Amino acid sequence: GDPDISESPLHPRRVSRRIMVGPVPVGGGAPISVQSMTNTPTRDVSATLRQIGELDQAGCDIVRVAVPTQDDADALPELVRRSPLPVIADIHFQSKYVFEAIDAGCAAVRVNPGNIRNFEKVGPQICQAATDAGISLRIGVNAGSLDKDIYERFGGPTPEALVASALKEAHMFEDVGFHDFKISVKHHDPVTTVQTYRLLASKGDWPLHLGVTEAGPAWQGTIKSCLAFGALLAEGIGDTIRVSLSAPPVEEVKVGCKILEYLGLRQRHFDIISCPSCGRSQVDVIQLAEAVTEGLKGITAPIRVAVMGCIVNGPGEAREADLGVASGNGKGQIFIKGKVIKTVPEDQIVETLLEEAQRIAGEMEAS
Ligand code: SF4
Repeated sequence: GDPDISESPLHPRRVSRRIMVGPVPVGGGAPISVQSMTNTPTRDVSATLRQIGELDQAGCDIVRVAVPTQDDADALPELVRRSPLPVIADIHFQSKYVFEAIDAGCAAVRVNPGNIRNFEKVGPQICQAATDAGISLRIGVNAGSLDKDIYERFGGPTPEALVASALKEAHMFEDVGFHDFKISVKHHDPVTTVQTYRLLASKGDWPLHLGVTEAGPAWQGTIKSCLAFGALLAEGIGDTIRVSLSAPPVEEVKVGCKILEYLGLRQRHFDIISCPSCGRSQVDVIQLAEAVTEGLKGITAPIRVAVMGCIVNGPGEAREADLGVASGNGKGQIFIKGKVIKTVPEDQIVETLLEEAQRIAGEMEAS
């Protein structure tokens, strides 16, 4: 049967309070959502909407946009109206944009109290405006923009320092009776990230937004995010995630979705199982796996396709797959659920697999 994606198969989820980001619930046992951030100028509404459309297609639940200038703030009403995803405005330094974002109908605003001038005075006003509009906020504490006093007290952006900063800011909101916020405490190092979120998770029931900040280009950033999110989610910590990559945002969403799928926290989509190949393989498994992955990238049905380099272990190793190929002697044995249904010449393997996969996916979608 379908997994219960609101529960982790590895560990009970940490009990957090629930907030709403537009129609998307975050925390309180809600399915873990995937976020990303556009990298187009927000004031370029059509380019930004195009990118949001791509993120939506890839499985993104919530999108964040930067609001560094007045033109960007002015673009928010139209962007919010036309976006298929709830929009979070990301605001640094200028509190007046926070109020404009709330007026524009943004689903949430991310603020970094540490770098909003005069936050002691403006903070309560922000909370009031958010309450009146029925929207949520995110406190984002970053290692790079830590409160100076806290930095000095702890001697750097340690887990304790990041959590102390988050608590200080959380209490500022709570002292004025505002509770609809989530917290992120970001660091670029996966070990520090895990330690920090663990500590924060033990201090209260805020929903937590997981992120490894400045994680690097796609390859390194993916590994760092998988490690940190994997460890935390496996302990039940985390309510919404954002993978940060120095890569097009759609790549962040793909990685985020796959992390959740592989942890049993999101319905599985298309997946490829392929052997690493070895001295026994008689075809170029790497090329074959890539061709099949490319050919099936648009498939949304939860089909598993196996590509195995030899017939010795192929079908047996991939019995869990819906469909697969095991190659040998210039031929490919096409199998379905571990049973060989036909044998085709090597140059027809890819097209046969793609045809069969489409057929099976069509059946799955119809049922
Ligand atoms: Fe080697 Fe065959 Fe296993 Fe692939 S399936 S790794 S080729 S033994």
